[in-house]
Amino acid sequence: MLDKVLIANRGEIALRVLRACQTMGIKTVAVHSTVDRNLKHVAMADEAICIGPAPSAQSYLNIPAIIAAAEVTDATAIHPGYGFLSENADFAEQVEKSGFVFIGPTAPVIRLMGDKIQAKHAMQEAGVPCVPGSDGPLDDDAEKSLALAREIGYPVMIKAAGGGGGRGMRDVHTEAHLANAIATTKAEARAAFGNDQVYMEKFLENPRHVEIQVLADGQGHAIHLCERDCSMQRRHQKVVEEAPAPGITPELRAKIGKICTDACLRIGYRGAGTFEFMYQDGEFYFIEMNTRIQVEHPITEWITGIDLVREQILIADGQPLSFRQEDIVPRGHAIECRINAEDPDTFLPCPGLVKRFEAPGGPGVRIDTHLYDGYRVPTAYDSLLGKLTVYAPNRKAAIARMRLALSETVIEGIKTNLPLHQRIMADSGFKHGGRNIHYLEKRIRERKETGMGLGS
Ligand code: ADP
Repeated sequence: MLDKVLIANRGEIALRVLRACQTMGIKTVAVHSTVDRNLKHVAMADEAICIGPAPSAQSYLNIPAIIAAAEVTDATAIHPGYGFLSENADFAEQVEKSGFVFIGPTAPVIRLMGDKIQAKHAMQEAGVPCVPGSDGPLDDDAEKSLALAREIGYPVMIKAAGGGGGRGMRDVHTEAHLANAIATTKAEARAAFGNDQVYMEKFLENPRHVEIQVLADGQGHAIHLCERDCSMQRRHQKVVEEAPAPGITPELRAKIGKICTDACLRIGYRGAGTFEFMYQDGEFYFIEMNTRIQVEHPITEWITGIDLVREQILIADGQPLSFRQEDIVPRGHAIECRINAEDPDTFLPCPGLVKRFEAPGGPGVRIDTHLYDGYRVPTAYDSLLGKLTVYAPNRKAAIARMRLALSETVIEGIKTNLPLHQRIMADSGFKHGGRNIHYLEKRIRERKETGMGLGS
């Protein structure tokens, strides 16, 4: 068994990985920046090493510092969490070259999926249905792009091959705006991702975001763990997620799940991963694959009873999957609210001192957070404070449980989006279920304009 795991991350996910290791009897090494020395997982880890100052480029993205930390502590493996270096193929490669186990897929697979154009191409070859669009990157031939957009049909979307975190994409509704959208997206992509390749896709006007969780052992076995609906989004970023997705029948789930597990075997996938799809009019369209644990993994753990981080570690240790597809039987309904340090109305980040924190409790309630009384939310990182997830026998009961859990949660000293979550849980359209990716923004706008939107 892997003896000692270095956790190359911070915040709630570092704590989550630490807990998985500790319950498995694995020793842990926390690495942290100077502002994070008082994080909960740093105190709980067997060893802790400061790897640099607050800016992530000098700490959590500093590959030599992290590898050096693994060397001096004699770690056997590195868990990258999500964000930071988790989908950096060079990092995975250097980890393995330095003699450590990378808890994730192989570097070539991360590299393939990290380029959305290549990923789509590989998925098409593997028989996964994709959003219609350009075959490869757009070149500088404006006439060709115009002709392609005409063929696909407006609206279209221009997306960066290296995009992520909801950035590097732009929808175009008329021919007059196409050339400018391509140029702007290219320039943004060059600055943000160091790769100015962009591609074109049909902009779907009424889709839901439905994604499939997979586990593959890299030894010929892959299973799926049902789907999550992540359609409640703002600026292409997830706000609330749920599992299973309303209205997805067992037959449909089995069909798309099999397509994903077949694709895993074909590309030699290893570890936990997520196939993200747009789902519209009963059809799935692949948009990208995430080759890491995701923020929203707890809702899948609720409905399947499987500890995904533990499975990641077992797979990295070289153990074959101990589940067959037949063993995965989803039960009940789970919902996640992402709790951010941000103004619930303006959405501006609100870092600062948490004067008081009280966690909710009761049956079917789980909170993954690194918060404590007196914790100072730093300005250097994203605003995720934690995740509140609930589980109940059905969706209606899960919503009721979430409303209560939200009302029990106290975070004083900084602004959070807890009020936004209360409005979502009270919203008639959300309660009905199956709303599309544009719904939340539309309702937020309506509330601002008429006072009658989200929450009514
Ligand atoms: P990222 O890697 O930045 O998360 P994704 O490709 O996963 O980008 O897309 C994020 C979100 O952007 C999706 O969940 C969806 O809301 C929107 N989106 C992406 N592609 C399309 C599309 N072709 N049509 C409509 N919306 C899209």
